[in-house]
Amino acid sequence: MFSILEDTFFSMVGKCADAEPIVHRRTKKREPQQASRTSFYTNTNSIDYHMEGWICIMEKNVIEQVFAVDVFNDAVMKERLPKPVYAKLKKTIENDEELDLDIAGAVAHAMKEWALERGATHYTHWFQPMTGITAEKHDSFIAPANEGGIMMEFSGKELVKGEPDASSFPSGGIRATFEARGYTAWDCTSPAFLKEDAAGVTLCIPTAFCAYTGEALDKKTPLLRSMEAISDQAVRVLKLFGHDEVQSVSCSVGPEQEYFLVDRDKYLQREDLIFTGRTLFGAMPPKGQELDDHYFGTLKERIAAFMKELNVELWKLGILAKTQHNEVAPAQHEMAPIYSTANIATDHNQLVMEIMKKVAKRHNLECLLHEKPFAGVNGSGKHDNWSLVTNTGKNLLDPGKTPHENIQFLLFLSAVIKAVDEHAGLLRLSASNPGNDHRLGANEAPPAIISMFLGEQLEDVVSQLIETGEATSSKQGGKLNIGVHTLPELKKDATDRNRTSPFAFTGNKFEFRMVASSMSIAGANTVLNTIVADVLSNMADTLEKADDFDTAVHDLIKKTLSDHQRVIFNGNGYANDWVAEAERRGLPNHKTMVDAIPELVTEKTISVFEKHHVLSKCELEARAEIHYEAYAKAINIEAKTMIEMAGKKYIPSVIKYVTGLAQSINSIKTACKEADCSVQTELLTQCSSLLAEAKKALTSLEAVTKQGGDMEEGAEQAVFFKDVVVKAMADLRAPIDTLEMLVDKAYWPVPSYGDLLFEV
Ligand code: ADP
Ligand code: MG
Repeated sequence: MFSILEDTFFSMVGKCADAEPIVHRRTKKREPQQASRTSFYTNTNSIDYHMEGWICIMEKNVIEQVFAVDVFNDAVMKERLPKPVYAKLKKTIENDEELDLDIAGAVAHAMKEWALERGATHYTHWFQPMTGITAEKHDSFIAPANEGGIMMEFSGKELVKGEPDASSFPSGGIRATFEARGYTAWDCTSPAFLKEDAAGVTLCIPTAFCAYTGEALDKKTPLLRSMEAISDQAVRVLKLFGHDEVQSVSCSVGPEQEYFLVDRDKYLQREDLIFTGRTLFGAMPPKGQELDDHYFGTLKERIAAFMKELNVELWKLGILAKTQHNEVAPAQHEMAPIYSTANIATDHNQLVMEIMKKVAKRHNLECLLHEKPFAGVNGSGKHDNWSLVTNTGKNLLDPGKTPHENIQFLLFLSAVIKAVDEHAGLLRLSASNPGNDHRLGANEAPPAIISMFLGEQLEDVVSQLIETGEATSSKQGGKLNIGVHTLPELKKDATDRNRTSPFAFTGNKFEFRMVASSMSIAGANTVLNTIVADVLSNMADTLEKADDFDTAVHDLIKKTLSDHQRVIFNGNGYANDWVAEAERRGLPNHKTMVDAIPELVTEKTISVFEKHHVLSKCELEARAEIHYEAYAKAINIEAKTMIEMAGKKYIPSVIKYVTGLAQSINSIKTACKEADCSVQTELLTQCSSLLAEAKKALTSLEAVTKQGGDMEEGAEQAVFFKDVVVKAMADLRAPIDTLEMLVDKAYWPVPSYGDLLFEV
């Protein structure tokens, strides 16, 4: 039967006689068979090392064995909750009905029992403050019992409400330190899960985070509010089309996550990577991404081992990890899950980022989620695939085979087009962080100007509608003949792809490609949901009043498309002509995050967000403040890191090198007057002059960084960092990068781009 192989620091590993691998590490007390269902070994390296000759646990049905073992999901709730409690909870989860607090006690009890069986000692309200990362404060389940003993407790109240100190999280002025109270509230629409680390096993309860006065202090609350808004408005529109059976509409999101992996030992030698997540210096190696040999390339063994383990960790949490591949830049990779409801997709994406970092360390790798870790090669983004699905399972963005006849689809399509055009600047902001400034509009995908790609088929339908008010045909894909008889004839899609578009229709969903790789996707989806909800609500207002629905809907589609066709662009989004063309069309082009922040507090934004109860004026203003502060702080840290590296590493190293050159010239001249020292002399002159330039730039950077740091937090400070400090940083980088190409590698104090990008 079950035999224990080894009890390592991490784990107890065994296998069944029938070769069914069993791995268990949480508690020795339980039956091994049970153990195999509930937990799973995570460190494949150690397994390979310790268990040579034994079956690798990953071999057999691993996905089914591990999938969602750490999630208190629907199946577990159904099994463990009293029937009426389960029924009530399900109603809340599926139909947006108010949570009945009377059931909280029963749910908490079941959750606690389930978690304890899996070795949990603590629970935490897991929330998403405005830092963009997640927060947790652990409490153990223990409570004192008779005779000095303890018992395990977890009440309904503890499940439903938590009270973290709100003043220590960014609040944009909503919470001052003396008004510290904040609450976390259980979000039952996202399942609780177990997290395992050196601290043990912790039950994590997804929660929303708000101030004592009710304002949202997190990313989840507005997302949930926006999901309700779009559901309400989409249902109104669907009623007009006779779909009384639809009770709710949810937005589906599939975020593709790009990331870099570098060797951790090398990473630890670079303060810029440690403090800022990106390289602030670094000359390009002889080879970059020009050969296109990394995209979809064969995985290196070390990377493959990382991906294998990452998948297991994600599957355990019920995350539908699906696609993995090498990306365009060297050392860049991607993971895409199967889409899920926006709220769950957001929670999962936060976990994906956290687990990527954790698993990477086990392989002595470091996972870089920064948007632009290396200048000169592509940066990372997060493609946010978005669509609307009814509770009856119909995707509202599915055009069907003949979109020209699908009036309901065309109405939803035109609603999205109008929303994106009207709120392009705000959408751009929703995808902005300091790191993304190096991607958007900086000669890299995608540009900072929002435009939409519809593809040939839809563009043709749209132009028919605009020109004649009637669309009578849809272009079809046809067959693809590859020209080799033995190869199958493939059915072609009706539309090619456009990789340069920031907002592309891809068959039955939109792909918002601007989102920053390290950022929570909550903001982008909150904006998308809210602006589309607003257009749908105005459309419903018009159509509900119409005497003749068919004519009214045709007119509305035609008018909407005519009014907003300027945002549709099927050409090359990277081309310079597009910038001029977009300007001619009147499309906003916010070149940086700071330029885009005011979009949060325009009258238009405030009125739409207040109308749909997603964010109040005060909450929007607070978010603008938080953005300004976050930007200034990020650049301040970068500048200070550059100052430290230049002052303590680069400049001293170059001094050593030029001193060596000078000594070499002197000793050669002493030994032989006629010897040619021109090479050393030329290098000495060049390096010394660059050294002087670097020192001068360092002094300026020190001065402006101090000046910026002394300014009061807010818009003015952010603008100063963007205009003055960022420029001073570039002035310091330039001579140092040139020096890197001249100075003997033995003297260079940090690993180079070549070392980081190609030696994993
Ligand atoms: P590509 O790189 O070609 O765009 P991928 O397969 O890498 O495609 O990613 C597509 C993403 O879009 C996946 O996360 C997928 O689950 C998601 N997706 C597919 N259909 C929908 C939909 N209807 N709504 C939201 N996301 C979707
Ligand atoms: Mg994609």
